Amino acid sequence: MSFQLTASDLLWMESMNMKCQEKGCEKEAIECHYSKVEEDELHEYTEYYCEEHAVIHGYCKNCGTFAAIYTCFDKSGFCAFCKSDTQID
Ligand SMILES: [Zn+2]
Ligand SMILES: [Zn+2]
Repeated sequence: MSFQLTASDLLWMESMNMKCQEKGCEKEAIECHYSKVEEDELHEYTEYYCEEHAVIHGYCKNCGTFAAIYTCFDKSGFCAFCKSDTQID
């Protein structure tokens, strides 16, 4: 699946203003994805967390990919891909 975001799409997304789903947290959220195999089927899940809570729950705070399964995921909060992309030390 491929699609192109138009300016109006971006405006619409901004107006959505997703909030972090952590109880009591009012920060703007990023979309977090993870998938796991259940009963031989791959299920994809989407959760919404702010940067801070995304990392706590094991997601990359940049792209929202579930990264806690990778040993290189640490408190910097970036997955291996984003880390090499941003060159943060
Ligand atoms: Zn939060
Ligand atoms: Zn990432």
